[in-house]
Amino acid sequence: MESYQRTHSCGELTAADIGKKVILNGWVFKLRNHGGLFFINLRDRFGVTQTVIDDGAPERLRGAAASLKFECCIAVCGTVRPRPDSMVNPQMPTGEIEVAAEEIVVLNGCDTLPFMIDEEETQAKEDLRLRYRFLDLRSGGMQSRIALRHKTAFAVREFLNGEGFFEIETPTFIKSTPEGARDFLVPSRIHKGKFYALPQSPQLYKQLLMVSGFDKYFQIARCYRDEDARGDRQPEFTQIDMEMSFVSAEDVYSVTERMMKHVFKKALNVDLPTPFPRIPYAQAMNLYGSDKPELRFDMTFVDFTEAARNCSFSVFRNAVEEGGTVKLLIVPGAAEAYSRKKISELEETAKIYGAPGLAWMKATENGLEGGISKFFENDGSVSAGRLGFKAGDLLLFSAGPFKTAVTALGAVRLRLGKDLGLIDPNRFSFCWINDFPLFEWNEEERKWDPAHHMFTMPKEKYLATMEENPGEVIGDLYDLVCNGYELASGSIRIHDPAVQKRIFKIVGFSEEQAEEKFGFLLNAFRYGAPPHGGIAPGLDRLVMIMAGKDSIKEVIAFPKNNVMASPMDGSPSPVDAAQLKELGLSVTEKEA
Ligand code: ASP
Repeated sequence: MESYQRTHSCGELTAADIGKKVILNGWVFKLRNHGGLFFINLRDRFGVTQTVIDDGAPERLRGAAASLKFECCIAVCGTVRPRPDSMVNPQMPTGEIEVAAEEIVVLNGCDTLPFMIDEEETQAKEDLRLRYRFLDLRSGGMQSRIALRHKTAFAVREFLNGEGFFEIETPTFIKSTPEGARDFLVPSRIHKGKFYALPQSPQLYKQLLMVSGFDKYFQIARCYRDEDARGDRQPEFTQIDMEMSFVSAEDVYSVTERMMKHVFKKALNVDLPTPFPRIPYAQAMNLYGSDKPELRFDMTFVDFTEAARNCSFSVFRNAVEEGGTVKLLIVPGAAEAYSRKKISELEETAKIYGAPGLAWMKATENGLEGGISKFFENDGSVSAGRLGFKAGDLLLFSAGPFKTAVTALGAVRLRLGKDLGLIDPNRFSFCWINDFPLFEWNEEERKWDPAHHMFTMPKEKYLATMEENPGEVIGDLYDLVCNGYELASGSIRIHDPAVQKRIFKIVGFSEEQAEEKFGFLLNAFRYGAPPHGGIAPGLDRLVMIMAGKDSIKEVIAFPKNNVMASPMDGSPSPVDAAQLKELGLSVTEKEA
């Protein structure tokens, strides 16, 4: 190989190199045979260079060119020369030159490809892409997204280092730490019958690092959650995990905003406007029906609850009588475009989120028409002046228990935003959602669950009396949202063992259970634990949004598929009986 080792990459030769003898190494990307004149586009990570075998070239060379296959790995030795004027390609960094080949050496051949390697995106189905991920990763799209991921992670480290953060690794074999999901377990061979858990996040360890006085910690940390395969989830994902001592939520907002600004500038050359708007949770639910609102378009809800209280449409009246809500979404100018059929498609979306239906009417020059308009003919509550609509608008209503009604209408809003092309794909719309409730009622188990995790501090004014009405306690916690995605969660933490014990009690841990699970944390808090707080932006989601994609698989080199399996290496897979025996385990149930 040595004598065929590259002198240049495939992305660097320009007119300044004309006349040089060079050796290029790379993959056969494009092959053209123009009646004996061969063009081979050679590709590596750095770019593409056109190499040429002239018609007059020796038979040996022409034979070698003729037998090349796509994606075989070759070395081309030759001389750099200008391209004929008509073939100059200003779009390509190497577009002024070509390499006249004098020798071609096949470093490794290539079997018939399962799909073509594309300059942009591989056109194959996802399963095939994942089975041959090593080839899929050769596509221009994947190469540029993996590069973006690298730049993003690098910019994160650069920024946080500049702010005085230490990157500290925490263990991947830990004691089970409930964060709302199921743990992946690792059996211990030495301690039979005992298990390590893979961390759902480094939460407890970063808090312990604060007790140890490290003050500012971060880690680009792998997290593992054994959740059901649903939507765009991966069993392992990466967080930019951060924790700081002696901070308030304001400090966390500030450092996170500055980090995002730095990262977008460095990795994308985009100037992010800061500070990000802040929306309290209750307001986000009231206006957008979501705690991760898509802010790239407006269309906020109008509250119709009071107006509905005495209206003649019994569905609305009953909803209000039962303590529910009626919300209105005004879709500007959509009355004509939305036929009954299209409205029933929107209704299907609302139903997915538990709403029994979607009520509608249209505002026209002649007043209200269609749907439930007959109930409001003589009712001044649906007036353009009061509700802010105009002729030509479509009016959509959702009624029922608050959460269901707003969530369903929120999903309809999002769908309309997409269908009506209201979302600018080139914008990044960040916001903070804060003032979340600390606890959520778990109807199934009839108990309170932590809304974020149980290490979050209640806001001070609720501290003394939080046991009285847990549902009303607001926590010192915040989410960072971008383009409708939850990008990060974080909070100011409890550092007082007495408060921590009270929270454990509210969420149903007995003193013994709390001691058994978190004794080490409570113990650490007894040794001068500083006040602290943090946040953890998801790296996969961040890069996905930056890349304008809607699946994190597009920014992870080797992701699992939608059923959490890897078609490439066949994981998860059975293991030898001997391995199980050594671990003291036996399998009692198997996948069909
Ligand atoms: N550990 C939390 C999470 O994974 C983030 C945090 O509170 O810092 O969501």
